[in-house]
Amino acid sequence: MAEPILDCLIIGGGPAGLTAAIYLARFHLNILVVDGGKSRAAWIPCTRNHAGYPDGIAGPELLQRMRDQACKYGAKIQTEFVTKLEQDEETGLFTATWGSGERIGRTVLLATGVTNRRPPMDEELHDDALSRGLVRYCPICDGYEVTDKKVGVIGSDSHGVAEALFIRSYTADVTLIAPDKSLQLKPEDAAKLKAAGIDCVDGPAQAVAFAKDCITVDTAEGHFTFDSIYPALGSDTHTQLGEMVGAALAEDGCFKCDDHQRTSVNGLYAAGDVVHGLDQISHAMGEGGVAATTIRNDLCADQPRWREPAQVMEDAGEGS
Ligand SMILES: Cc1cc2nc3c(=O)[nH]c(=O)nc-3n(C[C@H](O)[C@H](O)[C@H](O)COP(=O)(O)OP(=O)(O)OC[C@H]3O[C@@H](n4cnc5c(N)ncnc54)[C@H](O)[C@@H]3O)c2cc1C
Repeated sequence: MAEPILDCLIIGGGPAGLTAAIYLARFHLNILVVDGGKSRAAWIPCTRNHAGYPDGIAGPELLQRMRDQACKYGAKIQTEFVTKLEQDEETGLFTATWGSGERIGRTVLLATGVTNRRPPMDEELHDDALSRGLVRYCPICDGYEVTDKKVGVIGSDSHGVAEALFIRSYTADVTLIAPDKSLQLKPEDAAKLKAAGIDCVDGPAQAVAFAKDCITVDTAEGHFTFDSIYPALGSDTHTQLGEMVGAALAEDGCFKCDDHQRTSVNGLYAAGDVVHGLDQISHAMGEGGVAATTIRNDLCADQPRWREPAQVMEDAGEGS
């Protein structure tokens, strides 16, 4: 028997997609989350800036709690990577395809996130260093934890300069290291770094080893040891599925959305890091909630979803 058409197919099961799933399931809509299982939140050893957890919470535990909450209200979550998204011109329905199947949805929410570019280093070493706070990716999230520590920033363009200057308000000991060649700074950037007392080191840079509490970076100017390094190498945005159906992108390569998380394609919504804005859990969750409510209201504007009387629901064997 053909699977029923979904009210909403959520692609991506990080904080944005899972928040939307909780809302949509509680709106009594028929939804499915398809998630590739690579949430950036799963990388977080312990988030300490997420409101409501005074002692912090590990990213994987936060995700599990959100999955449990969504499933409690009837959401289904499938671990798959969606490779194709199409929209029928006549009906407006979307078909998403992945390895073992496909589903049709009236609406689609893309909560597919971004991936940080990693510095050149052995993968196992990287993951171990990340779990110990020796490699960090988000000074807004955890700059507090490097207060008065010795910090290296691997980056060269204005992004690297901005990150080094941001971290300078947590510690006086910041070094900017070029990832691949000698640092080539604009004069105004060089002046800002000098005024802030930030050291500059030429690349190529490679994090080579760490002892318990510090990490060593090999550079063109020798070995440097830091309490933490922040790669500032940019990120890759997962907009490919949206582009397949013609969604417009903003200048930074993220989806362009209206204030209610609608993309430029009717029926297609986006939330979280994949949309231009602050790349934070709180923001992703907020956009997930806004997107879900917009989806519910847009679906109901098309066709009201009046609930059947309780007796009729019971007779039909439906509980949710
Ligand atoms: C090391 C680190 C530490 C951080 N610390 C903090 C912190 O302390 N506080 C804070 O607020 N933020 C922190 N962040 C940022 C935070 O993790 C992100 O802002 C948040 O995870 C974004 O949520 P999201 O749902 O938009 O995307 P994600 O959490 O990245 O989830 C996207 C999901 O979509 C899936 N996906 C992508 N493409 C497809 C596809 N084609 N098919 C199926 N699934 C797909 C991915 O597999 C992934 O599971 C940190 C990030 C990192 C990397």
